[in-house]
Formats: sequence, C-alpha cells, structure tokens
Amino acid sequence: MIPATSFKGKAIALFGLGGSGIATAHALVEGGASVTAWDDNPESISAAEAAGIPVGDLRKADWSGFASFVLSPGVPLTHPKPHWSVDLARGAGVEIIGDIELFARERRARASEAPFIAITGTNGKSTTTALTTHIVASSGRDAQMGGNIGRAVMTLDPPTRDRIYVVECSSYQIDLAPSMDPTAGVLLNITPDHLDRHGTIQHYADVKERLVAGSQTAIIGVDDIYCAQIADRLEHAGRDVVRVSKRLALADGMFAEGPTIVKAWSGRMQPVVSLEGIGSLRGQHNAQNAIAATAACLDIGLTLDEIQAGLRSFPGLAHRMEQVGRRGKVLFVNDSKATNADAAAPALSSFPRIYWIAGGLPKQGGISSLKSFFPRIAKAYLIGEAAPDFAATLGEAAPYEISGTLDAAVVHAARDAAKDPSNEVVVLLSPACASFDQFRNFEVRGEAFRTAVASLENIEMIGGMR
Ligand code: ADP
Repeated sequence: MIPATSFKGKAIALFGLGGSGIATAHALVEGGASVTAWDDNPESISAAEAAGIPVGDLRKADWSGFASFVLSPGVPLTHPKPHWSVDLARGAGVEIIGDIELFARERRARASEAPFIAITGTNGKSTTTALTTHIVASSGRDAQMGGNIGRAVMTLDPPTRDRIYVVECSSYQIDLAPSMDPTAGVLLNITPDHLDRHGTIQHYADVKERLVAGSQTAIIGVDDIYCAQIADRLEHAGRDVVRVSKRLALADGMFAEGPTIVKAWSGRMQPVVSLEGIGSLRGQHNAQNAIAATAACLDIGLTLDEIQAGLRSFPGLAHRMEQVGRRGKVLFVNDSKATNADAAAPALSSFPRIYWIAGGLPKQGGISSLKSFFPRIAKAYLIGEAAPDFAATLGEAAPYEISGTLDAAVVHAARDAAKDPSNEVVVLLSPACASFDQFRNFEVRGEAFRTAVASLENIEMIGGMR
C-alpha cells in the first residue's frame, strides 16, 4: 500500500466505497488524514465501517472544514449531471480529486524520478498496459501495474527511484487527476464512446488530452483526427511528442511496416523491433498497442533487445483475442470481450478463415457493420437471443447453424474446423453481443469457452495473462 502522506493532518471527504474507494480510504488513513467516507449504498457504508474506515453522512457534514474531496471514478463528475456530493464540494470550493491524483502527489513527494507510464485511449488501454508491464517486468525491473486495469493504484508498493509504474487511466480518472505528471503518457486513439458520461466527443477528447499534456513525453496514436490534432497542438507548444501509427509511414515517429516497427526522425529510419510470429499481438489494432508500448519502454530507458524479448513472450490478455488452445492447425481464440460489432471487427480482420462463434444479448445494429468480413467466415455458430437476427443478416453470405449454447457451438465448430483443408484455421469466440442472457459477464463467458475447449480430445492448451 502507498500511504497518502501528503494529506497528513488534513480533513478529507471521500465518496464511493467500492473496491478502489476502500483502498484509497485506507491509504489516506494510513497517511495520517482524517477521513469522512460515504456512499449512497448503505451496504457499502457498513462494509467500509467494518473495514475500519471512518464514515459520516456527507450531506450533513460541514464542507468548509475539508481540504480535499476524493471521488470514486464511477461517480458522475459532470455528465449526465454532477452527483450531489460534487455539487456540495463545488459549493464549498473544495478541490475534487481521485486516487490517481493521490498517487501522483505521493510519487512527487517521495521519488519523483520513479518512472511513471500512464496509458489511455478509447480502445486498447488494458492490452497496452499489460504489455508494457510485461516488457518492463521481463527485463528484470520492478514493474507495478494498476489503475483502471483492476488494481487500485494506492494498493501498489510505495514509490522508490527504481520502481516503474504502469497505470491505465479511464477518462473519468484523468478528470480527477489535475496534476498528473507521467514520465511517458500514452494516448492510443479516440473514437466516440462513453459519451453518456462526457457529453460531447470534444469534451471527451479534451479530457484525454490532459493525460498527454501533463507528460514529459507524449506518445500519441495519430490514426484518428482527434489524436492527430492533439499531437500537433502539443508539438506547437514545444512538448516532446512521439507519434505512433499502425498504418501510415511517418516522417517523424514510430510506425508499422508489415510486422516491422520502424522509427523515423530527421530524415532517418531505423527498424526497432519486429512483431513477426507473435500470436498474442496479431492484427493492426495490436500493432498500435505494441508500438505505443515500445515507445514508452524506450522512453524510460529499456534497450531494444529487452523490448523485443518482452514483446515475444507476451502471453496476451485474457478474453481479448486470447489464444487458448491448439489442435493441429486449428487455433482456438477467446475474444469474449468483444461485446458489440465494432469490438469484434479487429478479431475478424485478423484471421483469414474463421469458424465463428457469435451471439448473446443483441446490441443495436446487430452484425450488419461486419459484412465485409463475411467472406472469411467458413461457418458461423450462433448462440443466445441474437441467433435468429444474426442468421438473417448472414443470409446467403456465409454458412451458419443455430447452435444455441456455447458448449454445443465449440464442439460443432471444432469438428468442422478439423476437416478444413486450409493451413490456417481458427475457431473464434468473438460474440459481438453482451453476455447477460447466458452468462454473468464477458469474463465468465470467456472462461466457459476455455473450459469447453479444454474438454476437446487431443487439445493443447495455451496460457494467457489473467
Ligand atoms: P480497453 O482496456 O481500452 O477496453 P482492451 O485492451 O481491453 O481495451 O481491448 C478491448 C478490445 O478492443 C479488444 O478485444 C480489441 O477488439 C479492441 N482493441 C484493442 N486494442 C485496440 C486498438 N489499439 N484499437 C482499436 N481496437 C482495439
């Protein structure tokens, strides 16, 4: 745990007592702050109280006495409308911050030279965070991974000069971290998403920009217009910018040329690492993630050999195009995280011949946006409530069956794929649907896929990063 010593002796209000809220409250108490914590859910309040966190009704509190207000990132700061606690804090002129701000202040106070890589973007955050951490850890350094990827940042080990922090940041967390100053900030991409919580795409992009604007080195994916503009703006402001592209040869920056990652600067070009044959980093989208991770690791002083070794041994992240097993030429891939058509597109574009397991709770628009990939579908195995609708969209474009359940789909797809004459065949779970009709969440669905694959005869299982 990182005790939040920069808040010692101060009165701090805290709202939101989920997992990260409780961890943050502990860090504040441990650091010597006087905490008043609250939640809208009485059960969360009781759980926090039982864990030794001082609780008090913030509606009735005297806000003039609080030095700071620490808000959980799940609680609305701006959209659709500010939470009541935010209104009270603003009314009293109390600063509103989150756990990443606490971390940033603590790092500055204790070991400001501790390398700090912060990662954001609409898509690819977790993959890039896990990959960067894996590269750093496999080079033998002390890598600490936290933030939006699951582990609350204040539960990491305290900053020392040699400890390297890799922190995934959602927009909500950036919004609550005004003084965040990473060594290397990564902004992968910006596409319209989560607009319910951010109002307009411009506001969403502005929030994301803050992460790189505060960084010593700004690593920015320039394949979309919002990020390209941000890179230009920061460079004009004299900042250190590394541009990243998965599809354009840049005059200055890092980009993919086939499987080779190339660095270009001042009229020169140098191949830096290769993604050739790395199954866990298949696809253009993963090239973007891998280039960004490479740029971040270079920035904090890793060697190209160390980075190449880390890329090569990356096991991939569970449920995101995760290779779970192989039987002869048939690869079994778990992409359960693809809960809508857009998210399924990268996996469908990454394999030439696909036995595709899809379906679940349908989302608006179905799979019609995936039509250009239908020629790659050797056969589709449709499950859940979406099955009839997906069948209608596939029509004559690709063969399909209504398998009903995931277990039946795996058995049928494995049987058919084994007979396929091509050299490279994949049985792919990339459902393009939410899971809630048949599973508690996408993780449980992915595990069910792994279990079903594991029970096939003569299967060789492959481990992923969990
Ligand atoms: P996030 O943490 O931002 O949600 P993940 O790394 O968990 O992203 O990846 C989720 C899904 O998003 C992946 O299964 C893949 O389909 C897609 N994806 C991953 N990286 C990218 C990227 N760089 N650009 C576009 N889509 C991506």
